[in-house]
Order: sequence, then C-alpha cells, then structure tokens
Amino acid sequence: MNIPQSSNPRIVIVGGGFAGIALAKKLRDKSVQVVLLDKHNYHTFQPLLYQVATGGLEAGSIAYPIRKVIQEYKDFYFRLTTVVEIDTKNQKIIAEIGEISYDYLVIATGSKTNFFGNQEIERNAMSMKTIPQSLNIRSLILENFEQAVLTTDETERNTLINFVLVGGGPTGVELAGALAEMKKAILQKDYPDLDIDKMQINLIQSGDRILNTMSQKSSEAAEKFLENLGVKIWKNVRVTNYDGRTINTNTDLSFETATLIWTAGVQGAAIMGLDAQSLIEKVERIRVNQYNQVLGYNNIFAVGDIAVMETKNYPQGHPMMAQPAMQQGKLLAENIIKLIKNKKLTPFEYHDKGSMATIGRNKAVVDLPKYHFNGVFAWFVWMFVHLFSLIGFKNKAVVFLNWVYNYIRFDREGRLIIRPFKKKSFSSFTSDEV
Ligand SMILES: Cc1cc2nc3c(=O)[nH]c(=O)nc-3n(C[C@H](O)[C@H](O)[C@H](O)COP(=O)(O)OP(=O)(O)OC[C@H]3O[C@@H](n4cnc5c(N)ncnc54)[C@H](O)[C@@H]3O)c2cc1C
Repeated sequence: MNIPQSSNPRIVIVGGGFAGIALAKKLRDKSVQVVLLDKHNYHTFQPLLYQVATGGLEAGSIAYPIRKVIQEYKDFYFRLTTVVEIDTKNQKIIAEIGEISYDYLVIATGSKTNFFGNQEIERNAMSMKTIPQSLNIRSLILENFEQAVLTTDETERNTLINFVLVGGGPTGVELAGALAEMKKAILQKDYPDLDIDKMQINLIQSGDRILNTMSQKSSEAAEKFLENLGVKIWKNVRVTNYDGRTINTNTDLSFETATLIWTAGVQGAAIMGLDAQSLIEKVERIRVNQYNQVLGYNNIFAVGDIAVMETKNYPQGHPMMAQPAMQQGKLLAENIIKLIKNKKLTPFEYHDKGSMATIGRNKAVVDLPKYHFNGVFAWFVWMFVHLFSLIGFKNKAVVFLNWVYNYIRFDREGRLIIRPFKKKSFSSFTSDEV
C-alpha cells in the first residue's frame, strides 16, 4: 500500500463512516500512525439518502471527501480499497490493493441490507444504503414515469407507478413521506397526461406498528401523517417473494409493481478472518466488550453498526444509529492511546440523545429521553439536527439553501436521470450493490 514506516504505532481503521471518522478526528496529533481504508473516497451522510433518492438533494451535498477530513493531520494516510480479510495471526489485513500490517486494528465497516437469505428479492428489489443505490432509486422512479406515459396498457401503467416500500422503520417511513410529497408537488405537474391518483405508495410492515423502535405516540403520529399524505400502510404483513413484478406476502395480499424498495433489515458488513466466537452469525455483527475490543483479541476493535456490545440496558447491543457509532469512535480513540500508555481503559456508556423521523413537509416525530413531540416544531428540530450533523460548511449551506428553495417553491430540481438505472424488463432488473 506504499505507507511509510513510522516510529509511531500503526492504527488501521477500516471504514470512514460515522464511527471511523469520529475516531480518526480524535487521533489527530496523538503520536500514532493512522491508515484509514474505505471502499469509497467519501463519507456518506446516510440519514439524507432518501432525499437524494427523491430528487430533493444532490448526491454531492451529503457526501464529504475523506482525504479532506485528514489532509492536515500528520502521519495519516487514506487508501481507497475494499478490505477482504483479516489475518489475525500475522497482524495484517488483506485488501484489494494489497496487504498492510497493523499494531491496532479498528473495524468500522457499518452495515448492509439484509434480505434474510431470499435471493430472488435481493435480485429484484432496490436497497438504499449507499449514494449509488439512492441514485438508482431516483433514476428508476423517473424512468417508470417516462415509461408509464408511453404505454397504452393500463395494467402496465399502474404497475409502473405503484411503489412498494418494505420496512416501516425510519428509512421506509421517511422515504414514503418524501415520495408522497413528490407525487403531490412534482409528478402531478410534470406528467399531466397521467392520472396521478393511480400512483400508489404502499408501505409494508411485518409488525403491528411502524417506527417500532420509537414511542407508541410517535408511531401513531407518523401513521396518521402518512395516511393523510395518501400512503397505504399494511401492518402485520411479511413479504415472501418478489420476482420483479409480483410481490407475494404471507397473507392473501399481493402487489403488482415495477419497484420494490427494501428497507426491512440490516446486517453487519463483516470481514472474513475473525474467530467464529466473536461473530453473531445470523446478523454478521461482531461481539465486543465494553471497551469495543473484539472478543478474543487485545488489539482488534469494532465500532458502530458492526459492533454488538451487550450491556444491561442494551442486551442486544446499542441501536444501529449515528450517535452510538460516533460516541464509540470518540471513546475508542482515547482508549487506544491509554492502551499504548498501559493505562486503565474507560468503559463505553451510551448517552441517548433521542431519535426522530420526518414524514414530509412540516411533519416529524421526535422522541427525546423524557419527551415526545411531533408536528411543525418537531420538523424544525429534525432539520436543525440534521443540518448541524452534516460534515463540512459547504454541505450545510447547500442543504440549507436547497431546503429553503424546495419549501418556498414546492420544488425538487434534482429530478434528473443522470445515470440511467439499467432495467432490462419488469421481470429482470440488474441491481448493483456498491
Ligand atoms: C437510509 C438510512 C437512513 C438512516 N437514518 C438515520 C438517522 O436518521 N439517524 C441515525 O442516527 N442513523 C440513521 N441511519 C443509521 C446510520 O447511518 C448508521 O447507524 C451509521 O452510518 C453507522 O455508522 P458506522 O460508522 O458504523 O457505519 P457507516 O457510516 O455505514 O460507515 C461504514 C463505512 O465502511 C466502509 N466499508 C464497508 N465495508 C468495507 C470494506 N470491506 N472495506 C472498506 N471499506 C468498507 C463503507 O464504505 C462506509 O464508508 C440511517 C441509515 C440509513 C441507511
């Protein structure tokens, strides 16, 4: 990888997401050599992916170059590569561009979409974990409409403009709300020759309430907001198959659709090579102790979505969200330095700052540790928190200006098919998990 030898101990971080970047920033000026590896050369602000998918924001405004984060840090190196294996015996990792040894290794690879082993759904559904995937969804939505105006076959037209989202968590809910807003404000005007009332947005949830990790009050409010926007919510329904045209479920319900967006589950983006006892097989996540040390190893750590730290308050591990990832990354930087200096490590404690979801214009739900609220004020809080959390002044400014423009003009100028999504036919989409 052409990294110079250094007298400082070498920390290799795999993943420049929320956890990896928080960790790297804290290691600045700390007499260590840091090698950061990521398969993308940018950090992705995943909470706003749905706005890219629905034309509200350009992709560049939610991405930030990783090299820019570390450009002024001494003895810091970035390499663009996918890491494929860890050789724990020889203390090195194997990536597509070569190998590198480590004194300390941090796995911060996050998570990926979980299709629970259903390969047909995986082949035919769209996921939304990365910017390229969001751009695929954006292109597909618009391509469907372009195709719908061409066809004289009513069944085909209705299938093209029927959108089915599977998974009633924050991602599914936010995307459903944004699609409904897009229908009302944009698609209706852009496609006057289509009967827009025929456009359906169906949200399928396997449990008995949407946003089931939030309070009951927030679930109910979100459900009401979505229904007022015309989204059909199907609860206690599990999708069993999708062949690219027909969705089958465990009930009598079925859907004819050209677009299924799958937000129903995630699993760790694990890397081969760790001892089996440190892996939770079903979800491919890594077991760590209270210092984020991978079980069975002294100098290998995992942080963020990939890590499961079983504690009294969080027996299944912390929520797979940006806050725990950043908090773990920050503390780990201090702990690695303490480890190098043979000092006592500090156990991780999660400070829950709450969770929130937006459902559309002027609508959001917010759960703080002691309060729940929803509506316009919640929407402003949601916007402020997301703006504040974006990396980079330019991104904050661009997103803010876009939101103001979209709000005043009821518009989304990102509705562009820049990179067409290669859809062969209804029954065989090509999906590229990147
Ligand atoms: C659509 C969506 C909406 C979300 N909304 C919210 C929200 O509103 N609030 C919230 O708190 N959380 C939200 N989340 C969850 C939040 O984004 C994650 O919890 C957070 O990103 C986890 O941080 P991380 O650092 O563990 O992983 P990530 O941020 O996912 O970073 C992982 C990094 O590792 C890299 N990587 C992975 N595998 C490899 C490999 N083998 N080799 C090299 N590099 C690799 C990836 O390219 C990526 O840059 C959302 C997630 C999604 C997908």
